[in-house]
Amino acid sequence: MRPVADRSNRFPLTLVIHGGAGNITRDNMTPELEMRYRSGLEQALKEGYRVLSSGGSSVEAVVAAIKVMEDSPWFNAGKGAVFTHNGTVELDASLMDGRTGLAGAVAGVKTIKNPIVAAHRIMTHSSYVMLIANGAEEFARNEGLAMVVPEYFHTQRQLERLRKLRANPDKTSKNQAPILPDSPFFGDDKLGTVGAVALDRLGNIAAGTSTGGTVGKRYGRVGDSAVIGAGTYADNDTCGISATGHGEYFIRNVVAYDIAARMKYRGQSLVDAAREVIGKHLKKIGGSGGVIGLDRQGNIMMEFNTPGMYRGFIREEGKPRVSFYD
Ligand code: ASP
Repeated sequence: MRPVADRSNRFPLTLVIHGGAGNITRDNMTPELEMRYRSGLEQALKEGYRVLSSGGSSVEAVVAAIKVMEDSPWFNAGKGAVFTHNGTVELDASLMDGRTGLAGAVAGVKTIKNPIVAAHRIMTHSSYVMLIANGAEEFARNEGLAMVVPEYFHTQRQLERLRKLRANPDKTSKNQAPILPDSPFFGDDKLGTVGAVALDRLGNIAAGTSTGGTVGKRYGRVGDSAVIGAGTYADNDTCGISATGHGEYFIRNVVAYDIAARMKYRGQSLVDAAREVIGKHLKKIGGSGGVIGLDRQGNIMMEFNTPGMYRGFIREEGKPRVSFYD
């Protein structure tokens, strides 16, 4: 068990979230989309803040904030998730508690309404870290979690996106190439994986991530969002991290843990560590995406090497701040 937060201290309530990184620029944004993303992010921040300010834990705040974005059709997670190349929707999510070091994750699920809630339940009600596909669904059903038919996740918007990608097969990831010459994060793609990292009053950090994965992915493919250490990591002694981007790069480079490890072993600050990993290393090898994070002092980090990242944070005073572009 890791050190429990010092109860005599009051840590600064902090929540940072993302709604995905990609080719998010003013030029390819419409006022309607901008409004949708802004209000979705603000709603998630307010919900997470409501939990934190009423004495809830960072784990509860992360789940609450992510649930709002999973229920929105505008993010690539839960309701608004992207399609696989053969027209199914397969969701990944993970959650980590920086106080206990416990974690939970699901991958390739098709009927769990809120994958982040299932990840939470695996963390708290099982001795496992990750459950996949049917096994995860049966667990969720037995736990009484909200279940839906697979079609619940089918949105017109994502169907059109799949059609567009099918018409231009070079940009789909169905061939499992280890490194795609044409990264799926460029072109006109704006990805919408979601994530949240919170610091509660007791100084406990939690992080979570939820996604439909990459557009037109091969069915059965699992990305970094389900993988502890790659897409999600939390440790009270260093930081909490949630990632978004080209998952294969984030898995191979153990991105979330690498940032924490640089803080732990090199004594780097959160921002310096993230800049090196995202801005230098990943950029150099062609891995596009971004990360959000915070440390126990309430320092926030939002780093990305794409043109933009939907992101926002809220602190003590309860005012949500949201931005999109570089
Ligand atoms: N990282 C996610 C994945 O590879 C996708 C994303 O963040 O947009 O599944």
